[in-house]
Amino acid sequence: MTLFISVYELPLMEFRILQQSPSRYAGSFLCLVKPRLGIRKFFGWSSANTTFLQKTSLRIEPRRQPQYRSEVNRGAVLCSTSLNDSPLANYDNVKIVYSIAAATGHNKESHPESHLRVPAIANALEDMELTPKFLGSNIIQLENYKPASVDDIVSVHSKSYVAGLEKAMDRASRDGLILIEGSGPTYATATTFNESLVAAGAGISLVDSVVKASQTHKNPPIGFALIRPPGHHAVPKGPMGFCVFGNVAIAARYAQRVHGLKRVFIIDFDAHHGNGTSDAFYDDPDIFFLSTHQDGSYPGTGKMDEVGRGDGEGTTLNIPLPGGSGDYAMKMVFDEVIVPCAQRFKPDIILVSAGYDAHVLDPLANLQFTTGTYYMLASNIKQLAKELCGGRCVFFLEGGYNLESLSYSVADSFRAFLDEPSLASEFDNPAILYEEPSRKFKQVIQQVKQIHSL
Ligand SMILES: [Zn+2]
Repeated sequence: MTLFISVYELPLMEFRILQQSPSRYAGSFLCLVKPRLGIRKFFGWSSANTTFLQKTSLRIEPRRQPQYRSEVNRGAVLCSTSLNDSPLANYDNVKIVYSIAAATGHNKESHPESHLRVPAIANALEDMELTPKFLGSNIIQLENYKPASVDDIVSVHSKSYVAGLEKAMDRASRDGLILIEGSGPTYATATTFNESLVAAGAGISLVDSVVKASQTHKNPPIGFALIRPPGHHAVPKGPMGFCVFGNVAIAARYAQRVHGLKRVFIIDFDAHHGNGTSDAFYDDPDIFFLSTHQDGSYPGTGKMDEVGRGDGEGTTLNIPLPGGSGDYAMKMVFDEVIVPCAQRFKPDIILVSAGYDAHVLDPLANLQFTTGTYYMLASNIKQLAKELCGGRCVFFLEGGYNLESLSYSVADSFRAFLDEPSLASEFDNPAILYEEPSRKFKQVIQQVKQIHSL
């Protein structure tokens, strides 16, 4: 006789006893285990020799909509303004503080930058038990954050753009979906303006949290803004490439203005060049912008010889990687370019434009990053922030259009921040990778090092 038990129905302690003491339950026994880390596992012990058996299957579809405290209702964003000393008053053991702004009203049918992206990540985090419900005080979801103010936005964007976008919301309410003026394909709906303020606000609130924690703790939490619309293509004068407001650029200016953090180091590992962020700080010596991206991809900028201008000469660094570059290339870029560059710059905070579209499975680029590459980046950047700027570091979601690889890669980034081992080997399939163009990317790295005297 075989006994089936669903662990959903067992208290956690009982489950642990089961794991540790299979012999106690010898006899024919099968146990259907709650999907740990997004994986359905089937365990069993045979009656004869208490052999431990395991079968794994992946569940890939997001099941449900997560709950958001920032609600969008007919274009109005309802956010609590009571940020003051929420659970963040105590930062002991907190390793991640994150915020969610899914912009579910900002959506266009069949568009890759879809309203399903952030819910897919949120659901994966829940399924993989990487949320406060499972991790207790190790992780905090910031819920009562304020949307960014127009003043925050105009620290990067022109007043005429911001006012024009707000005004365009009337037309979007009437027509449902409009294309907003600017370069590149960027749509807007009736909620775009408000939801973009919420996204930027979710980012700057994390800057507040991380900076505040760093005042009393040697290892403050890493911030992660799970937000959209993305921001790094949005130029000072307008939207561009699915991006409305430059979330990371706005946070950089905010960190300087509100917290007095003078020197900001921005790492952008999205598959595309962060031209908007680059434009915003091209002549600024206090904000270093370093971008890795696929050479020749949208929007075509980000050449090696774009190094900044005037006082800002030398504080823009581009690494255009040849198509097919992956884990090997990125490790080398990190060790030979990012680390020495950041060490020389001596930042007060590190901000990251975290795009997940360099993943080998992403439909919009031809790089070969894997879940493991993103774990490596998250882990190394965390270490770099610890060494150089009191651990102050906030990640901002940019691209990433394959919902599965996006979700799993963000989840593995969370594991890196939590000092948990990577589960990349469960998600990555080495069989789909081909040889990286090592001769070409080594040449690029050498040239970049030469240009920047690294
Ligand atoms: Zn991108």
